[in-house]
Amino acid sequence: MQNELRTRFGHTAESIAQDFAEHLKYSEDADVYHTTQEGRYTALALTIRDRIIHQWDKSRKTQRANNVKRVYYLSLEFLMGRATSNNIINLGLEKQVREALAGLGYTLEELADVEPDAGLGNGGLGRLAACFLDSMATLEIPAYGYGIRYNYGIFRQKINNGWQVEQPDNWLRDGNPWEIHRPDVVYPVQFGGEVQVIHENGRDNFKWVGSELVNGVAYDTPIIGYGCKTVNTLRLWSAKSPEEFNFHEFNDGDYTESVRSKINAETLSQVLYPNDTLYMGKELRLKQQYFFVACSLADIVRRFKRQNLSWQHFPDFAAIQLNDTHPSLAVPEMMRILLDQENIGWDEAWDITHQMMGYTNHTLMPEALEKWSLPMMQKILPRHMQIIFEINHRFLQSAVSFFPLQPEMLGKVSIIEEANPKQIRMANLAIVGSHSTNGVAELHSELLKTSMFPQFNIIYPNQFNNKTNGITQRRWLLDANPALAAKISEAIGDGWITDYSQISRLAPFAKDSAFLEDFAKIKRQCKIEAASFLKKDSGLYINPDTMFDVQVKRIHEYKRQFLNALNIILIYTDIKNGGEATKNMAPMTFLFGGKAAPGYVNAKLIIKFINNLAKVINADTQVNKLLSVQFMPNYRVTMAEKIIPATNLSEQISTAGTEASGTGNMKFMCNGALTIGTMDGANIEIAQEAGKENLFIFGHTEEEISGLKNTYNPYAWIMKDPEIKKAVDLFLSGYFNVNEPGIFDPLRKSLFDNGDKYFHFADLRMYADTHKRARDLYAGEKDDWNRKAILNIAASGKFSSDRTISEYANDIWHVKPCPVQKDLENENALADAAKRK
Ligand SMILES: *Cc1c(COP(=O)(O)O)cnc(C)c1O
Repeated sequence: MQNELRTRFGHTAESIAQDFAEHLKYSEDADVYHTTQEGRYTALALTIRDRIIHQWDKSRKTQRANNVKRVYYLSLEFLMGRATSNNIINLGLEKQVREALAGLGYTLEELADVEPDAGLGNGGLGRLAACFLDSMATLEIPAYGYGIRYNYGIFRQKINNGWQVEQPDNWLRDGNPWEIHRPDVVYPVQFGGEVQVIHENGRDNFKWVGSELVNGVAYDTPIIGYGCKTVNTLRLWSAKSPEEFNFHEFNDGDYTESVRSKINAETLSQVLYPNDTLYMGKELRLKQQYFFVACSLADIVRRFKRQNLSWQHFPDFAAIQLNDTHPSLAVPEMMRILLDQENIGWDEAWDITHQMMGYTNHTLMPEALEKWSLPMMQKILPRHMQIIFEINHRFLQSAVSFFPLQPEMLGKVSIIEEANPKQIRMANLAIVGSHSTNGVAELHSELLKTSMFPQFNIIYPNQFNNKTNGITQRRWLLDANPALAAKISEAIGDGWITDYSQISRLAPFAKDSAFLEDFAKIKRQCKIEAASFLKKDSGLYINPDTMFDVQVKRIHEYKRQFLNALNIILIYTDIKNGGEATKNMAPMTFLFGGKAAPGYVNAKLIIKFINNLAKVINADTQVNKLLSVQFMPNYRVTMAEKIIPATNLSEQISTAGTEASGTGNMKFMCNGALTIGTMDGANIEIAQEAGKENLFIFGHTEEEISGLKNTYNPYAWIMKDPEIKKAVDLFLSGYFNVNEPGIFDPLRKSLFDNGDKYFHFADLRMYADTHKRARDLYAGEKDDWNRKAILNIAASGKFSSDRTISEYANDIWHVKPCPVQKDLENENALADAAKRK
């Protein structure tokens, strides 16, 4: 008995090997004749999970015993990627696991490669949530992530004749060893129906009787802090029909109808909406939002009620952060719980709600702003609609003193927009219902105050604040680039893993020729590995002995992948004409990756255009020794982890004022890529930290773009630059779509006829010239490039999500770390778990 107990806790290679073998046999029923790579992966994951469970339990118990305040991070997206190697590293077991597997003839990589990405997000917003979970656990902040357990995550992207084709991502098909099903944590969620008013004890009580019922069941994933002291929880809700059958219909003989309604209820958590920074007013999406908000708040309220304290103390134990407006129904839902279920008066309920909520805005783009039609909200959430009216009524009463005799100003802050039909502005609801509204980089937070919500900034002058985004250096440097991480630790010690400000100690090594040489070798090795990954992942051939120029992110007009493509046309024609701009150029590979929203015509055309451009260039023997263009299908976290460490030049070229922050830019920086970029989002702060001379900054500033807005004419900019004119003519002539006439017409229209909303042609000349400077530096004395790369890494300290989370914790949440004692083994735990209580 003693030995068996020890196995699941043991941190030696022997105990890991034994537990792995036991899981293969007893969890997978495998033997040497009957075992699959999937089975071995699952056995490994379960072996690792065993070594987390005790500390997970201990974390919950410690947090509860200390009556801590917890953070609840509500997000419709968590772009987690893979868990296995990250968990092994955070547990500190990498060496032992490798040794155990080697003894059995396997490598960690081949087993870890079986795991599908948890792609429960679109892009930056979802990945930010994932980085925040890692940082909160490592900083030992008691925290829960709450979201939806989508059966289908972000679609898998195939490229067919250059076109994006979407395929379903059935990531749970073979089971998910990292999650634990909690059938006992289940909440009923209702929709539709009507509100009854019952007059009782001198007040009106409202009772919402829904017409539709769905249960939300919890699935928990452990979030392991580095060193495995605190283990927090990501709790995702899955929709379950409350009954297997509607017995009434069943008895009436309508068997199929009764099964249909069950399936209908469960569609709620089937699929992630694949739109990034684009709002779609779909009823199912509104239901998803309410579903996960209702389950999460019910869970938070249940946890507080266990303490038997009066409601005024609720905000001392819970801070709720809304990741964009997607969870902003949390405001009326919390009010509904306090008013209708707990019988608290409006003023106290409002005070509690307002103190608990914080809202993070992620974009200034009008097409991303969520506005739900009032009739739809009324139909699906009739009680919430009443509460929203009351919130708005009281808010406008208090706002009127700020704007006397200015009804148009009140119209702008109103939660209800007077359109036909009326719309509910979820951002206004989130701002009014929260004590903090933050942007995600300095420029973005300024623009929130001055251009997006100036009236709110007058009413609530202290509410707006900035929290510049960050990334976790543990996944994006330690895990993704182990060779560079080891080199850095050798130079400055490993304190940077949990205190990333220490990375600044690397700066002197930019002058150390041995370090420069090692850095160059590591970068080259990363390129070889990236090339072999791409060969295996999508059959692409890329040459590691070329300069890697990479733009990976969602495909969107504002991110300007087409600007990159235009510059490639300039380079292509220059090489063909024996021009000056490419005379001493080092061979280059331009790599693109990213998904387009399935309904976003122009974004899909940009993908098609890049693929056509690639086809022409890669087949042209006059240029293809110097120039290669590749579109990497199915960009995702796992691909980012391979490509970013291999990059020389990071493309961050959005129109100034459109990219709220960006986080891809930060991942590249800490892996020693140089940035070519506009003064937008966090690029500005990256330039501040690293020194403008260590980046390639170009283009109009946000202020200049604003100034151009009324007079800008793309034709004028094209006509005054003969080279650009030629490149544009080549595009318009159909050179890149010879057998596909007219396919790029919608792109042509928005770039030329409809005024080029994202100012490609205002920035193209500066971009091309700046890009040439980057190529020249790369082709010149190698150390010059690498010196800047190392200075960039050394300057990346600010961009750790540990820093971001500390700021949220201090300024918005007012939560403190809760240190959890680390037990290596606790042999009483098993007996304790099994005993009947
Ligand atoms: C970091 C990341 C993003 C965000 O990239 P941006 O360049 O900031 O838009 C998107 N997708 C994945 C898979 C990421 O890892």
